[in-house]
Amino acid sequence: MHVIGAGPVGLMLTALLQPLEDISLLLYEKRDDYTRSRMVQLDPSLVAESVETFRELQTDQDDVEAIFHPLEIEDGVAFRTSIPDDLRLLIQQWTLGFSPLNEIERSLSSLIAERQEGSVERLAAEMSEQAIALAVEPDDIVIDCTGRNSLLRESLTTPGLSSDEGQNTVNLELEYSLVITFLYDQNYACNELCKYYKNSDNRTYKFIPSVARTFSDGDVSHVTGLVSLTSEEAATIPNECDGEWLRANRPEVAKSMDRFIDRVKGETHGEIVGDLQVLCIPLNLYRARNATNRLNLNEHDPDYRFSRSPVILAGDSAIGSPYFQSISLGFECAMYLASLISHPALTVDEVLDRYETYIFKQWLRVYMRSKKIKHDKDVFELVDDKLALLELIHLY
Ligand SMILES: Cc1cc2nc3c(=O)[nH]c(=O)nc-3n(C[C@H](O)[C@H](O)[C@H](O)COP(=O)(O)OP(=O)(O)OC[C@H]3O[C@@H](n4cnc5c(N)ncnc54)[C@H](O)[C@@H]3O)c2cc1C
Repeated sequence: MHVIGAGPVGLMLTALLQPLEDISLLLYEKRDDYTRSRMVQLDPSLVAESVETFRELQTDQDDVEAIFHPLEIEDGVAFRTSIPDDLRLLIQQWTLGFSPLNEIERSLSSLIAERQEGSVERLAAEMSEQAIALAVEPDDIVIDCTGRNSLLRESLTTPGLSSDEGQNTVNLELEYSLVITFLYDQNYACNELCKYYKNSDNRTYKFIPSVARTFSDGDVSHVTGLVSLTSEEAATIPNECDGEWLRANRPEVAKSMDRFIDRVKGETHGEIVGDLQVLCIPLNLYRARNATNRLNLNEHDPDYRFSRSPVILAGDSAIGSPYFQSISLGFECAMYLASLISHPALTVDEVLDRYETYIFKQWLRVYMRSKKIKHDKDVFELVDDKLALLELIHLY
């Protein structure tokens, strides 16, 4: 099995498959070191020990119940409880609060390296589609965990469609946004009232801390917030900048953010530690129309490189939403895939079919919740303008 990409999802999948007999894993990673230090949170339902707890822990419980059959939920929980203790303990720790992303990546890498069992070889290499095609033997499985700019997503086409019609990435642009992160030296928690009142003087460019995105680890709170922009405004801001750049070049945006921060300081009498980190990114919701190459497998197309080898997308390669805890989604996806691969009775075709159905169901869930969050954000932006608000909502 070839796992391309040792980000959180590639590592999780490798750690789940490592104990299986008769599988050798090659894990390819292009980065020399794990440097992404942003704080991320994992969904506590990843370590639910019963169906009841799983249900209680789901923030989108109604959607999950509407989309998944009760037996699917039961199977998911059963797999979670079968995860080896060393791995389970790590996941448990990450569901308790925020952790730096690189700590998750390093801990998983060490766990894989230190285990006595299984056959995993890690290779430092930036793989191309051609390099992977050369490396695979017939019937090897290729799992693409290369993240949102997936290496193989566009190679999974629908036969019979032209390359334009057959684009495998379905992309929905939600908004452009500044993602502003800072550390604050006091305990600061945020809810909807706080978001409203601290923005009361911001007619435009409201600064909205993301849901549950403030976390205090005792002395310091980690705050991440979004400021919506138009695409034209976003085009004038670099992908990454700091508070100084923003104040000098986009003072009207910086003022809104500073007004919000001043109110936080006024209440809790603290200070920002270090500088603000500002990312300017499009917030897109996307999915792979085909998350596997089941439609191309065993087709005798001389131009198709993987007709003898199943290719599967996992994690951000398959689905992404800016408002979702995507690592948790990716971990769920890795768990489901590992449960299929470890199922002795399933044929390759059955594994691919079931995985496609699962990814489509996850997509429905992510789509519904992301649209709801975006709608709530739009309502919040207009909450003081009654007429504009009525334009935005539809009542039946
Ligand atoms: C600002 C920000 C905040 C976020 N906060 C959260 C959060 O709080 N909670 C959460 O759950 N998620 C969060 N996310 C999303 C989360 O970081 C991603 O969902 C997650 O990293 C996806 O994991 P992945 O393993 O699928 O992909 P990635 O993390 O992108 O990993 C892909 C790996 O593949 C490697 N790779 C890529 N191409 C190749 C190649 N050709 N050859 C070899 N290796 C390759 C890369 O180097 C990388 O290591 C956030 C994202 C951003 C931008």
